[in-house]
Parts: sequence; structure tokens; C-alpha cells
Amino acid sequence: MKDERSEDGQERRPEEEQTEKSRSPRDPWKELRELMDRLGGIPLGSIRMERSAAGEESGEEKKRASQASPLDVVRNFSLRPREIRDDLNRYVISQDEAKKVLATAVCDHYNHARRCLEDPEMARRDYPKSNVLMMGPTGVGKTYLMRCIARLVGVPFVKADATKFSETGYVGYDVEDIVRDLVKAADGNVELAQFGIVYIDEVDKLASRGGDGQKDVSGRGVQVNLLKLLEDSEVRLIAQNDMMGQMQAMMSFQRDGQRPPSTISTKFILFIVSGAFSKLDALVKRRLGNGSIGFLAAREGEETGEERRETSTLGSGDSALLQQVQTADLVNYGFEPEFVGRFPVRVALEELGESELERILTTAENGIWEQYVTAMEGYGIHLTTEPEALGEIARLAAAERTGARGLLTVLERLFRDFKFELPGTGVSELHLTRAMMEHPRQVLEELIQANAQKLRHLASPEVDAFVQRFQEKSGYALRFSPEAKERLGELAAQAGKSVGGFCEGHFRDFSYGLPLVEKNHPGCREFFLEREDVEDPGQALTRWIREGVSPSV
Ligand code: ADP
Repeated sequence: MKDERSEDGQERRPEEEQTEKSRSPRDPWKELRELMDRLGGIPLGSIRMERSAAGEESGEEKKRASQASPLDVVRNFSLRPREIRDDLNRYVISQDEAKKVLATAVCDHYNHARRCLEDPEMARRDYPKSNVLMMGPTGVGKTYLMRCIARLVGVPFVKADATKFSETGYVGYDVEDIVRDLVKAADGNVELAQFGIVYIDEVDKLASRGGDGQKDVSGRGVQVNLLKLLEDSEVRLIAQNDMMGQMQAMMSFQRDGQRPPSTISTKFILFIVSGAFSKLDALVKRRLGNGSIGFLAAREGEETGEERRETSTLGSGDSALLQQVQTADLVNYGFEPEFVGRFPVRVALEELGESELERILTTAENGIWEQYVTAMEGYGIHLTTEPEALGEIARLAAAERTGARGLLTVLERLFRDFKFELPGTGVSELHLTRAMMEHPRQVLEELIQANAQKLRHLASPEVDAFVQRFQEKSGYALRFSPEAKERLGELAAQAGKSVGGFCEGHFRDFSYGLPLVEKNHPGCREFFLEREDVEDPGQALTRWIREGVSPSV
């Protein structure tokens, strides 16, 4: 190995080593083989899964885990399409076709990657990658499906919006940055990052004509830049201005005692692109002959006029038509043929209706409702519901026409005040009912009033927290007597608010009134409040402005 110092005897900085290394030609496969040779004696087996299943690790297991190669997830890849589909069924509602197509594409990809690791000779042969193009409206699970798959396989996953990429890379996000992001998602592990999944959303915006007949030259430039990544290319690991990347390289050097590679190969990165592709269905329909051909004619016969009107208002096209997309349609839409050609796997996702949205709330594992329940637990509130309320949420969400995102919108609107007002009121149970959805404010106030007794006991720390916030903001110290604090607890309960929230409103005038007191009576910066001052803070303020404050309570 060469000396760590340069010719002038100075210690070389890691970035200098990086630059130097990137200039010399390298063979990533040789490096990979060397790495595998080095790890050759390590017993195979799903170390990651053994650890989580066993809970406590034995000393031997710890030793083995520390020796495990990050590439074991690929070398041990043995999932079958059905297994992936079954796992997706736990989390993702509907989208059966997409689950099947993605599960198969992912198995194809990682089977091939595994075999190339076993036999480097195979890696040299040409192999068309199973990159995937997903078409479907917003919020129907495109990203979610891929996140779930990446988690199951155990590979890093990154997502970016195609609209963020700039053609030149001098301004904005460079397409290569997304590959570098994979390394971050793999905690700096370049080997594993080389087998990660890159997801690029809104790729339809790169079409040079889109659905709107406009020319977009920069979109074409980005397509060309992406093309390089889609095949086997080497991306410099550390962009010139990337301090974080340089630090990660150093960390990996310290951890492994090996010089980190200076580039990352995209050969085994799986690329998924997606978009709404609005109006693409019309192009497909035209090609198919205005609906007169086979399946279309049958479908149109099945559909009612009402259904047709609904689909035509959606952000994305008819999924049955999009399922029939061919390369020519995408080229007509404004994509470069070479670009489209790199995405042999294409699938259309379906719009989610009211019943699917309800199933997302009621049956999806770790679904949106479960996440809400967990979030409320964070505030010490146990959230339960009657089934009818979830049905109503799904109905309102469907009207939003943003897929499962509509559920988030409706839930956020519904629980906004509850999350703001309930913490600190002693309320620990919240049961969602249809009635509550109709009059949320009223239910909230009743709930707090019913807990008034608890609120009185909780008042003291809540008032203290308000005093501290007020002092930090204004520089003035408020001192409440114990009776004054208790009275604040009662008043807050009557108003149906948390004590903190009530104090903010009740003493609003103090922030501009107290400077007036200080102006009239220099040195007055501490204010004592009794029960009657809490009843009428305006009167207390007027008194202080007139007479000043004596330093006692
Ligand atoms: P997009 O299709 O725009 O990529 P996402 O996959 O990001 O939508 O969906 C947003 C969120 O909505 C997900 O994180 C997930 O919680 C939920 N979601 C979307 N579609 C489904 C679905 N089919 N089943 C279960 N949850 C879903």
C-alpha cells in the first residue's frame, strides 16, 4: 500500500485521496470479488432476521453479525413473487395487478443480482433490467408499494420528484444526486447501495409534449441524463460540494479499515418511475380505434354513463386503458424512445373508491388509522372509534379525489383542535363517533368540562409552563398565587380549553401592557397575581400602570 503522505511529506486529506482514486481506472467487479473472497468463510443465513427473532443476541451471534456482509440480503435473496404479493396484501389495499407485476419484477431483478454475485462471469453478460413504469393517480399506493417491497427485501430505497432535476446539474438537483442519496439511505454502505431501489415520481412531467401539446426541452435533457443511470454507469460517490458525503466516506474508512470506493455502479440499482400520465389514456384509446376493439367495446358496454363521467374527471386516466399502454403511446406522449425502452415493466394502478378507503382504515396493517391512534397515544390519549365513523371518514375522503391522501386530509381536519386542546387537560380517552364528526367543537368542550376536576389539579404545572414561555418571549416574570393557579384551571375548564391555551388568550394584553408599566415605573419587571387578578387581568394591568408594583405577593 502507498504511504499515507504525499511527496511533500504532508498528510493527505481524504478528499485528495478520493480525487486521486477517481482519476485512476477501477474495476468494481474486481473489488466486489475481493470483498466476497474476504468474506468467503462467513456462514450464510439471514442474520438480520435471526437477530430480530431471537431478541437477545448471544456472543457468537454478535460476532457473526459484525462480520456479516451487507450484501447478504442479495446473496440470500430467496423470495418468490407470491410471498412478496402476500406480504404486500397485509399493508396495501387493492392494486392486485400492480402487486403481481411489481413482485415479479423485483424477484427477477434480485434473482439476477444474486446469480451475478455467485458467478461474476454472468455479471459481464448483457441483461435487460426489470425497471418499472407505474401509472396512476396520486395517493393510490405507488410509493407505498415500493417502500414496503424495499423493506421486505432489505435494500435501501430513495424517492425523488422528476421535476426537481435540472438538465445541467449546475442549478438544482442533479440526476446523479439520487444515486448518492441511496448511499445515505444505506447508512453510507456503498456495496448495499449498489443494489438499492430508486423511485422517481412525476416522471410524466418530463414528457416533451405532456398531455398539453407544449414543448419542454429541459424535460428531454433530463431524460437523456437519466438514461445514463438506467444502464451500467459509474457515478462519482461524492459530489464536489458534498461535505456530508465526504464525512460518510471517512466514517466508512474508520469502520472497515478499507478505503471507501470513489464511485457507485448503477448496474444493479432497480429504477421505478411513476406519474399520473393524465390524458395518456386518450392516446391509447385513439390507437385502439375509438373503443371499437375487443375488450374496450365490452368494457364500455359494462360502464354506465355516470361511471364514464367520473373517470374523465380524474387526475389520471382510465386504468384499464393505461394497462394497454405501448411504447408508441408513450413516445407520442413525448418521451424519448430510448428512455421508454428502459422500462420494460409497465403497470397501471387503480383509483381508490370509498370502500377501498374504508378498508385502508379498518384492515390495513399499520395503516393510516393505526398511525393516528399511535400519534394520539403520544399525547397520552387512548383513541377508539365506532365503525360508522370510519365509514363516514372514507366517504368524505373519497370526495377529495386524492386517494388515500384524502383520508389524511379528513382526519387532520377532524382532529386538529383535539390534538391542540386535549393535551394537558387530563382527558385520556377519546371515542370517535358520528356525532363528534358533526359537532367536533362542542364535543371537545364537553369533554374538557367533564374533566374539570382533573384540570384543576393539572393547572399548576401548566401555568408554570406558560409563565416560562411568557418570560422567554417578553422578559417579564409573572407570579401566580396557588389560588390564582387553581382559578385558572377552573376558567380553562369552563372555556373548554387546556390551561396553557387558555392562559395564552387570557393574558394576551400583557405583552404590550407590561412595557407601559415599566415605562411609567422603571424597574417593574415582576408581577404578582392573586385570584381576583386572574378573574380580570385587564383591571390588574390598569392598576399596575397607574400605581406600579410593590415587590410582594
Ligand atoms: P402515491 O400513489 O401518490 O405514491 P402513496 O403511496 O405515497 O401515494 O400514498 C400515500 C399514503 O397513503 C401511503 O403512505 C399509505 O399510508 C396510504 N395508501 C395509499 N394507497 C394505499 C393503499 N392502496 N393501501 C393502503 N394504504 C395506502
